[in-house]
Amino acid sequence: MRLRKAARVILVGAPGVGKGTQSERLLHRFPQLSSISSGDLLRHNVKQRTPLGIKVESTMKAGLLVPDDLILRLINNELNQRGWLYSSHPAGNVMTLASCAVETQSFSNDADMAAFISHPAHTRGYGSPSEDPSASFLLDGFPRTAAQAERLDETIPINMVVSLKTPLQVIMERISGRWVHEASGRVYNTTFNPPKVAGHDDVTGEPLVRRADDSEEVYRQRWKKFEETSEPLLEHYARKGVLWEVEGMSSDEITPKLMREFERRFAE
Ligand code: ADP
Repeated sequence: MRLRKAARVILVGAPGVGKGTQSERLLHRFPQLSSISSGDLLRHNVKQRTPLGIKVESTMKAGLLVPDDLILRLINNELNQRGWLYSSHPAGNVMTLASCAVETQSFSNDADMAAFISHPAHTRGYGSPSEDPSASFLLDGFPRTAAQAERLDETIPINMVVSLKTPLQVIMERISGRWVHEASGRVYNTTFNPPKVAGHDDVTGEPLVRRADDSEEVYRQRWKKFEETSEPLLEHYARKGVLWEVEGMSSDEITPKLMREFERRFAE
């Protein structure tokens, strides 16, 4: 299905709510959408051993957030490279191909990165966003905080924020019913897709085990942390009038509602 205008979307949801599933389905149905993941961009820099990558590696390993300035410039740079940001130059909406050609997402040396970090976005030719449907994206992992959202609004305002909701109790039941076959990674659920023989893998007959992070206690902690950080983020977007909430007991229940709303807003 084709889009009639640019969709700039983020999905927000607690761990286990099925963000990945909904993203995949949206990308499949709307080929003009692409996904940009802050985690992937960072990991790419770490792998390439760029100065930025080296700088953020220990932070990422510790599971902490990398500084807003770095992550923001990384995202803006990516959007700019894709040609989705237009110049705010008085000459008009000219795509800044020349300026983005000198910027690469990976930094080959410290001087490049220092220059990249010390120049505010507007001096590097970032301006208003393209409204062309091809400039449509789902952001994954960014923004995570209200502060990041505010900064992102300065260059490329998000025009739909989907808050995915499933009751805590339902997710807990899903998790507590989950069993895995360690060797193959096959996953079963005593409620949705039980193994043929209880407690045993269908293919090998070997015993199934619980995943270490599938404990109720661990999950409750992750949920709490998510609620704390997502609340100000969702409030930020509610104030902007772009927040849309959808609730369902399963991904299959949520998908049709999400598709309907997405089509209403963006499809041809
Ligand atoms: P996870 O879902 O496990 O957090 P991600 O791939 O989204 O994995 O992110 C991996 C790491 O990259 C995070 O732990 C964090 O250090 C960094 N990171 C990703 N996105 C952001 C962001 N928006 N702000 C700050 N740090 C981020």
